[in-house]
Amino acid sequence: MNEIGLHEEEILSLLNDAKIKDFTYDRVLSSMCTTPHRIAVKAHMQFIESNMGDFGLFRGTHGMEEEVIRMTGDMLHCSSAEGYLTTGGTESNIQALRSMRNLHERKHPGCRLNVVVPRSAHFSFDKVSDILDIEVRKVPLESDLKISVEAMQSLIDENTVGLVAVAGSTEFGQVDPIGKISELALEHDLPLHVDAAFGGFVLPFLPEKHMFDFSLQGVTSIAIDPHKMGLSTIPSGILLFREFKHLNCLKAHAPYLTVDSQYTMTGTRSGAAVAATFAVMKFLGKKGYTGIVSKCMEMTRHLVKKAAEIGIEPVIDPVMNVVVLQVPEPAMVRATLSSEYNWHVSITRDPKALRLVIMPHMSCEMIDMFMSDLVKVLDSTSKAKSE
Ligand code: PLP
Repeated sequence: MNEIGLHEEEILSLLNDAKIKDFTYDRVLSSMCTTPHRIAVKAHMQFIESNMGDFGLFRGTHGMEEEVIRMTGDMLHCSSAEGYLTTGGTESNIQALRSMRNLHERKHPGCRLNVVVPRSAHFSFDKVSDILDIEVRKVPLESDLKISVEAMQSLIDENTVGLVAVAGSTEFGQVDPIGKISELALEHDLPLHVDAAFGGFVLPFLPEKHMFDFSLQGVTSIAIDPHKMGLSTIPSGILLFREFKHLNCLKAHAPYLTVDSQYTMTGTRSGAAVAATFAVMKFLGKKGYTGIVSKCMEMTRHLVKKAAEIGIEPVIDPVMNVVVLQVPEPAMVRATLSSEYNWHVSITRDPKALRLVIMPHMSCEMIDMFMSDLVKVLDSTSKAKSE
């Protein structure tokens, strides 16, 4: 650290230097985050110092957190759901599985516990395995990139603490057969966590109805991220439990705060993100989110059509605003798009293909520009291969 503080102008100049090195979202097709809504930014700034780790001092902000939980529970068909605002899908998933582990009654002390998750689950579940020392059993995917319930059933045993289903997989935007997984969970008397970190702010606003939330009796917890399709600021995640006992088993005594206990993983928590999420949800309402999702789906269809015109098919018909294109040499295509054309895309693991997330910061014009550069990259890649 420097001995003496710098002048404000120098700091601002350093900040600008850093800022111009960041990519702007208008060249990004790989992220599940986006430019937050202006009302969310405004609210975030207004509550910048608010700490939800000691919410007795910030009662107004805490009231907003309670209202966000109520609104989200209502949207996901359980208005009495309990929960809190997390830093995002990773924390929500870790806490949901920690709750399963804490509630599990061990039948075989000494045996390693396990949780059964789809192979398409986000890599946060690998962190769970390390942190909680639980085996994460991965269910293989069918050709439509969903799990089969029979395959999930075959991995359950007496040391299983719970099941996980994905509503909007990170790589393909696919939704598992959650209705059937819910029945399986009820049959085995196991909790079922649904990772809807991405899909949670998409599926309720699509014209086709997908069963994925608390309307299914077996679903006991849901992760849903306002900082993805909810258009809030980072870090905004939400973890909801159907019943208080699932939250209560995460309780830790807090000896020197204004509140005597915490259920959260982190101590100090951003009240700014709470205010941002409250503001954007109130501002947009169901109608606003429906409009945003419908625009993203229109762009998704536009991209699929443009790709078909050059003979490229998606791996699956997009269920939501994620398109995965079957291009030759996806890793090389991705690298060239980035180094020569400043487009940022990602690739999937199995099958290997080009992954594009169609977020609200995009437009059909941006997609057209991208597609015209993709054609050039595909040409140069096929030439390079034939030489
Ligand atoms: N779950 C799903 C389905 C995701 O797509 C992601 C991130 O993209 C996460 C969890 C992790 O979310 P975060 O990066 O906010 O922790």
